[in-house]
Amino acid sequence: MDRPGALPILRQGSRQVYSPSRISTYESCPRQYKYRYIDRIPRDEESIEAFLGSRVHEALNKLYRDLQLGKLPSLPDLLAYYEWDWGRRWHDQVKIVKQDFSIEHYKRLGKRCLVNYYQAHRPFDRGQTLGLEHKVTSSLDQAGRYRIQGYVDRLVRVRPGHYEVHDYKTSGRLPAQDQIDGDRQLALYQLGVVGMWPDAEEIELVWHYLAFGKELRSRRTPEALERLKTATIALIDRIEADTEFTPIKSLLCQWCAYLSICPIWTDRTAETPSRSVGDPGDERSREILVPDEEMSADLRSFLREALLEAIRAAAETEAAEIRVGEDGQIWVHVGGRTEQDAPHEKADGWMPLSGASVSLLLRQVERGRWSAEFVEKLERYLASDPLGNIT
Ligand code: SF4
Repeated sequence: MDRPGALPILRQGSRQVYSPSRISTYESCPRQYKYRYIDRIPRDEESIEAFLGSRVHEALNKLYRDLQLGKLPSLPDLLAYYEWDWGRRWHDQVKIVKQDFSIEHYKRLGKRCLVNYYQAHRPFDRGQTLGLEHKVTSSLDQAGRYRIQGYVDRLVRVRPGHYEVHDYKTSGRLPAQDQIDGDRQLALYQLGVVGMWPDAEEIELVWHYLAFGKELRSRRTPEALERLKTATIALIDRIEADTEFTPIKSLLCQWCAYLSICPIWTDRTAETPSRSVGDPGDERSREILVPDEEMSADLRSFLREALLEAIRAAAETEAAEIRVGEDGQIWVHVGGRTEQDAPHEKADGWMPLSGASVSLLLRQVERGRWSAEFVEKLERYLASDPLGNIT
C-alpha cells in the first residue's frame, strides 16, 4: 500500500524522495499534484473508497501482527475488529461520491474482502512475514539523485533467496494480467527489496484483489526493471521542470479534495458529469472510462477529451510521437522514416490509430518501446471512436 498522506517531503541533495503514489498523482493531474505535494494544502475529505481500503488494510495487519505473536484470530474475531475499527475511525469528512450506494454497502464490501482473504489463506503458513507496511527505499541512479520510497503491505520470505511483495486491493475492478505486468508501484518496491536483501534471487509481486478473492502475480526481468528506472527518471525530471501544473479535467475530479479551489471547475454546473468511474482507491481506476452508448452526447464528448488529454500526457512520458487531427484522429509514429511535414503514409512510420493498427501497437510493447498502459489508453480512445461512431 502506498501511503502518500503519511509520507514526509524528504530531500536527498537537492531532490525530493518520490513515492509511486506521488508520481501517479502527477500523471493523473499535475494541478492536483501541486496542491498536494508542493503547496501542501491539507485535505480534510476522505473518499469512502479510501476509508474502506484503510480499514481492510488495518484488519489484515492486525491478523498478521497476531500471527507473529503466535495467535490465530478466528474469522469472527477479525470481522469484529474491522467493525470496531470502522466505528472508531469514522469521521464526518468521509465523502460518498456514488450516491446510490450506502455506507452499509461499503462496510459489507470490506467484510467480503476479509472473508475472501481469510478463507483462501487460512492457516496463513506460507512463508515468513518480514514486515507489515514495510518501508522500502531505492535509488534509480548510481548517484542517488532519484530516490523512491514506499510501504509494502506485506513482505514475505517464502524460502531463502525467494521473496514476495504483497499488495492488498479493495477495488471493484479486476485488472488484466498485462496491466499487472506493467504496474509500476510494486516493481519500484522490488528495487528496494533487492537493495535491502542482496540474497534476493527471486522476487514475486503479488496483488490480492480482495473483493474478487483473486490473487494476481507478476515477475520482472532485469531488463524490465532497467526500463522502469529510465522511464521513472524521465518522469521525475518532467515533474521537476514543470512550472504550469496544468489541471487535467476528468471524472476523477469528483473524488478530488481540491475541486472547490480548482480553477477548471469554477464554472461547473449541476450538469457536471457525475457518473461512476470505478473505484478511486485503485491505481488502475485512475483511468478514464471509454464512453458508452447510454451516456449523453456531452458526457461522451467530455470523456473523449479527457482520454485525449491523458494520451497526450502519457505520450510525453513515453517519448512517443503522436499527432491529433482536427477531427480527433490520432496518428502514432511506430518507426521507420519520419517526415514531419507529411505524416500520412505508413512508409513514413506514421499510422492513423485504427483497428488495423492495434497489433502494431502491441508490438511496440513487446519491443519495450512503449508501456502496455500507454497502448491501452490508445485502444480505449479507439474504442470511443473520436469520429463519433461509438462502437
Ligand atoms: S479538480 Fe480535477 S482538474 Fe482540478 S486539481 Fe482536482 S483532479 Fe485536477
